[in-house]
Amino acid sequence: MRCEVVAVGTELLLGQINDTNSSWIGQELAAVGIDSHFQTKVGDNLDRMVSVIRHALSRSDAVICTGGLGPTQDDITRDAIAAVMGVDLEVDEELVAKIESMWGLRGREMPANNRQQARIPVGAQAIPVQPGTAPGIVATFEFDGESKTIYAVPGVPWEMHDMMSGFIIDDMVRRSGSQSIIRSRTLRTWGQSESGLAELLADEITRLDATGDADGGVTLAFLASGIEGLKLRITAKGPDEELVSAQLDEEEARVREIIGPIVFGVDDQTMESVILSLCVEQGLTLGTAESLTGGLIAQRLTATPGSSAAFRGGVVTYATDVKTSLLHVPAGPSVSEEMVEAMARGACKVLGADVSIATTGVAGPDAWEGIPPGTVWIATCIEGEVETQLLRYRTDRNRTRQYTTITVLNELRKRLESRA
Ligand code: ATP
Ligand code: MG
Repeated sequence: MRCEVVAVGTELLLGQINDTNSSWIGQELAAVGIDSHFQTKVGDNLDRMVSVIRHALSRSDAVICTGGLGPTQDDITRDAIAAVMGVDLEVDEELVAKIESMWGLRGREMPANNRQQARIPVGAQAIPVQPGTAPGIVATFEFDGESKTIYAVPGVPWEMHDMMSGFIIDDMVRRSGSQSIIRSRTLRTWGQSESGLAELLADEITRLDATGDADGGVTLAFLASGIEGLKLRITAKGPDEELVSAQLDEEEARVREIIGPIVFGVDDQTMESVILSLCVEQGLTLGTAESLTGGLIAQRLTATPGSSAAFRGGVVTYATDVKTSLLHVPAGPSVSEEMVEAMARGACKVLGADVSIATTGVAGPDAWEGIPPGTVWIATCIEGEVETQLLRYRTDRNRTRQYTTITVLNELRKRLESRA
């Protein structure tokens, strides 16, 4: 099975947005063993789109188009597919009703324009998974004497993801004649570089490569996610749900054995959701005292549904005298181990929390009172026991604050886990 990706949108060519959709689709296809030899970007121009899609179909079994499914004049992916198929577009009234009801759920009336989105090439179908108001399209038809498939998904990344994971991958695997099913699980890690992780897992990847075949097996893939760490995705292919799930469990255990506690979560878990769950499990409440991070930690914690079960609150104490008056820290240098420890203790006391996090430092770009930018003290306090750490970053202000946030959260996560 060979599949190409065609990313549609003039803004991609002008460099106004990055084509992250193609990269993501590339990873998904690789994970399930579908060959993808070309990715193309094309502007919102009918003739050029038709030409690119035709060319892609001439050398592949399937094409995935992303973008250009919206309701506006320049959204012409539907028209291009109809032209490639040599058919007309027809309004699918059932689809109109579905789109109308989605607008209704938002308490709004569907603009007339959105009827456009229910135009489907004759002989094609709407993709049954439809997370937003834009339906996707799947069309299988004869092209140069062979059966080929075009999938069209919206450009909006989360809508595209849902259609890929909820329909397209399975559909493609089925069309390729394989009886296997494919499931994956993502281990989320923090604290190891991509090359470091690859080195740790090199032997395991070699072993997996040697044991898999077209109908079954397990693969590992790395997905760098910047500030969110590295994701390690385990994909298993096999004859049925039970076997595949057992393969995933077994591989997860192996990987955890090899890479240890840098795994902080699985699939949709985040650093903060894990911390909040650990607090709830251990009957602990949590508070924050932030200087350098200015509320970023509290923001992440409160962005997690259900955070109120453990999170008491946070204080942003920036000026030294505010640290003193709000957190009752003793007078002393603002960026120091004594200060961050006193802040962590102060947070527990004034917020009535069992556990706290504190940060203070010099975000930069300039030095502060002779202390170089990127100098950061973090502390975690669990039931009166404080642990501190000095971090030194050589990066910009934004990254210093972001890295501090995730690092101190990770320190707390490790401490809570070791108690469990
Ligand atoms: P809409 O219904 O929003 O108009 P659409 O299917 O027409 O969706 P586009 O108009 O092409 O898609 O893109 C919508 C938004 O999705 C863009 O503004 C951009 O933020 C994002 N997007 C589009 N294509 C890509 C891509 N290849 N990679 C990453 N993001 C993309
Ligand atoms: Mg659009």
